[in-house]
Amino acid sequence: MNVLVCGGAGYIGSHMVAHLIENNHQVVVLDNLKTGHKSSLLGGKLYIGDLRDSKILDKVFTENKIDAVIDFAAYSLVGESVENPLKYFDNNIYSTIKLLEAMNKHNVKYIVFSSTAATYGEPESTPIQESDRTFPTNPYGESKLAIEKILKWCDKAYGIKYTALRYFNACGAHINGNIGEDHNPETHLIPIILQVVAGKREKIMIFGNDYNTPDGSCVRDYVHVSDLASAHLLALKRLQNGGESRIYNLGNGKGFSVKEVIDVTRKVTGINIKAEIAGRRAGDPAILIASSEKAIKELGWQPKFNSLETIIETAWKWHKNHPNGYEEK
Ligand code: UDP
Repeated sequence: MNVLVCGGAGYIGSHMVAHLIENNHQVVVLDNLKTGHKSSLLGGKLYIGDLRDSKILDKVFTENKIDAVIDFAAYSLVGESVENPLKYFDNNIYSTIKLLEAMNKHNVKYIVFSSTAATYGEPESTPIQESDRTFPTNPYGESKLAIEKILKWCDKAYGIKYTALRYFNACGAHINGNIGEDHNPETHLIPIILQVVAGKREKIMIFGNDYNTPDGSCVRDYVHVSDLASAHLLALKRLQNGGESRIYNLGNGKGFSVKEVIDVTRKVTGINIKAEIAGRRAGDPAILIASSEKAIKELGWQPKFNSLETIIETAWKWHKNHPNGYEEK
């Protein structure tokens, strides 16, 4: 397959590119490199440009015979989205509209779209099922939910078949140790804990210990980035085999509290990690755990790196060997 990966130089996108190459597919990447890293690409043909620019999209689709698209290109910081919603609606929604226009023009019929657990907002029940109510509590989640709805209508009108994958907490790094997470600023739990391990940060702040959870800190479902990548390829193959458009959750179905994640990281690294309780972070639901039964059943998805120890080991391998990330900027 010849796959266009939009946002392929980002954290999840770069693991997708690696997975496609490892499975002998041809890869074209379109990325504006605003948050992505050129050196995270282990292969593929890179076009540097913005999805909101129809000219570059035309060029990519004209110069390459694209069979299917995987779209990761988006801003994804929840806090920033609350401060600046229009930035998120413009970048995330408008760019996908332009991408769908180009796909329709060039007769490309399959897309796997990177969605999020943030489409649910505060969950109705645990574990979360795809059929549960969606009620995003921030513009980031709202932008992704809006795109899911746009995809539904584009399927009806143009026959573009889609799979939207709602990830829970993406984490870990490729087992080869060469690609991993490098955000600036970093806001995610595991990389921040590992910065403490690496001596780059004095302590980890635990955002809230008064939640209605067993130890008072928030519970999340951590899923390895390479397992996310494998689900995307399975979803593409399913569409190519005539599968209808669908939405799937991707998580491991098991929750870990912030305190448990810190404890497991202490065990994996052998380093004592200083932690301090801080106030709650705005907009954080107490518990987010996925039911991924539908993806397991319909996609045949089998997460390989589903223990928190393995997730942290792979993340640590990357961070230890790349203390300054990709060191491009
Ligand atoms: N968290 C924390 N301290 C930090 C960063 C995150 O306690 O420095 C908590 C956060 O409140 C949430 C969990 O860790 O409950 C996971 O946060 P992250 O930002 O990694 O992912 P999110 O759940 O927001 O997608």
